[in-house]
Amino acid sequence: MSASKLQSWECPPRAPQSNEPLVWRDTVRARLLDARASAGTTLPCGGARGSADSSLSASGHVLPLHGLARFIDADWEQGIVRAEAGMTLGELIAITLPRGWMLPVIPGTQLATLGGALANDVHGRNHQLRGTFGRHVRRFSLLRSDRPAIECAADDQPDLFSATIAGLGLTGVIEWVEIQLMAVRSSHLNVTRMRFGNLDDFLALSRGRASTHEYGAAWVDCLARGNAPGRGIYVSGNHSTDGDLSLPAQRTRGLPFAPPAIVPNHGLAMRTFNALYYWRQRRGIELARVDPASFLSPLDKLRNGTRHNGNRAYQQHQYVLPEASARDALQAILQTIAAGGSGSYLAVLERCGALASPGLLSFPMRGVSLTLNFAQDARHNTALFARLAAIVAEARGRQFPATHAQMNRNHFRSAYPAWQELERHRDPALMSRFWKRITES
Ligand SMILES: Cc1cc2nc3c(=O)[nH]c(=O)nc-3n(C[C@H](O)[C@H](O)[C@H](O)COP(=O)(O)OP(=O)(O)OC[C@H]3O[C@@H](n4cnc5c(N)ncnc54)[C@H](O)[C@@H]3O)c2cc1C
Repeated sequence: MSASKLQSWECPPRAPQSNEPLVWRDTVRARLLDARASAGTTLPCGGARGSADSSLSASGHVLPLHGLARFIDADWEQGIVRAEAGMTLGELIAITLPRGWMLPVIPGTQLATLGGALANDVHGRNHQLRGTFGRHVRRFSLLRSDRPAIECAADDQPDLFSATIAGLGLTGVIEWVEIQLMAVRSSHLNVTRMRFGNLDDFLALSRGRASTHEYGAAWVDCLARGNAPGRGIYVSGNHSTDGDLSLPAQRTRGLPFAPPAIVPNHGLAMRTFNALYYWRQRRGIELARVDPASFLSPLDKLRNGTRHNGNRAYQQHQYVLPEASARDALQAILQTIAAGGSGSYLAVLERCGALASPGLLSFPMRGVSLTLNFAQDARHNTALFARLAAIVAEARGRQFPATHAQMNRNHFRSAYPAWQELERHRDPALMSRFWKRITES
């Protein structure tokens, strides 16, 4: 088997890392011990959809787990499934959805693996109702270099269970995961798209529809000026009840996500594209029936970060802002981006609910999350990102370690005060570039 070159999903930080993919569960621990002996440390790697230095190994040695992708067991009466950690969310959904069971939490990519979803405790467009991925994990097996395999659940090895959920792949290699699924009667969603005029409209709309709709997210035009800052399109959806559980073959129109590559990356062109997109929806409200992937994970069509926007590289940032300060902080962020000119070509707003995660370092908190994707432009971005980070810190919000290429160490330490507890549970054979930066004194 040839060595594979791995790189985190989007462009920065560019850091190819190589190693042979693992295929059999009973070889994982031996490889972990080998890595400890030969490279000092390593890092598990799933679908390589993480876009920050938290997904990059400090030593350059990684354990690629996407070959460990077998379905292990299911209780179809109760909707409980167990699968190897390298199985992608999309692969699992393809097995469970025709049987009437859906993953209760799906992030913006179904190419993430079960292990990666657990290690970053991902959230989806229904955080208000379902919380994070970790809330639905019943049990998993962890392979460490310093002890034999351990099964973890909320009431069995609870400290390690909690540290591993959002544990950034540092507490051990997750071998398999057992999850409680959500019953659905259709593989399609009925969605409503609503144009809104500003941030206050979004906040009212998303609050009002939270109790009636499973999913909700908004595209926001973060370059609009004058009396339209924060205008956008809010999409809410529920699983249909028509009983059709066939896997959708055709992908339908989802959330808007990026201008085509022919749109130059400068303020006027992007502003024009955004305005056209906003007004393309002629009626204020539109109804549609869509497949879940088009709505929940629209970027998966492009599979690769650099292809996402022509050949442009880009960088994703995700913030969550607490309810009390969300409005003012979002306003300040949007104004700062609009004034900066280069803009974020994809900006998505979602509400996060109050359901607590079992994970020690889980990202979401009750409030609003904002995901931004910027074209790579070191000249503009360095200063802009520092200004945005200052607004987020002042609002007592936090950044997502799965997406921020170079999250500030002090911000991380104050936003995630339990970080030292994770360090206590870290497997000595595992270390990422991110964690090295964070923990070095
Ligand atoms: C287009 C796009 C949209 C996204 N949208 C969202 C979103 O809406 N919500 C959200 O929460 N996230 C989102 N993300 C982030 C993504 O869901 C996470 O980064 C996820 O963790 C990626 O999973 P992966 O399998 O690719 O993991 P990788 O990128 O390979 O690794 C991520 C982390 O998991 C660890 N890890 C992976 N496998 C294992 C294992 N078996 N055992 C132990 N540790 C392991 C790694 O060490 C690393 O720290 C998005 C990413 C993309 C590219």
